[in-house]
Amino acid sequence: MPQRKNVPAFDPPRHDRTRPQATELSAPFWEGTRGGVLLVQRCDECGTWRWTPQLACPRCWSEATTWAEASGRGSLYSYTIVHRSIDPSRFETPYVLAVVKLAEGPHMLTNLVDCPLDEIEVDMPVAVRFERLDDEFTVYPFTPVKD
Ligand SMILES: [Zn+2]
Repeated sequence: MPQRKNVPAFDPPRHDRTRPQATELSAPFWEGTRGGVLLVQRCDECGTWRWTPQLACPRCWSEATTWAEASGRGSLYSYTIVHRSIDPSRFETPYVLAVVKLAEGPHMLTNLVDCPLDEIEVDMPVAVRFERLDDEFTVYPFTPVKD
């Protein structure tokens, strides 16, 4: 393979990958989870809910937005079962990495918990369950619920 010259090596910022990272944009979301509320941006112009936090509405490009309380309900859109932990001392395997379609519309990357692996079904109804990590972060896994 030919060597490329004068190209700096890709050096992504290092952070603790076992913890979320709050940004100025996502701070209201994390403040919500600490209080047991799932806040999601909703466009003030067209009403579109969006996740992840973004500066402008992907539908109408308006920057006018409100952090609105979502129902915390949705359905399992997709998932994968992770058998190999990035940090075995902190993450037990297997665990379920899931995409949940919120009742309000957006899709949210999360974990599915309290569900036997052989009972996971796409489209199953789920609800958020807040889990406090520490004073800064409360995470938001989802768990199966009856309709
Ligand atoms: Zn909009």
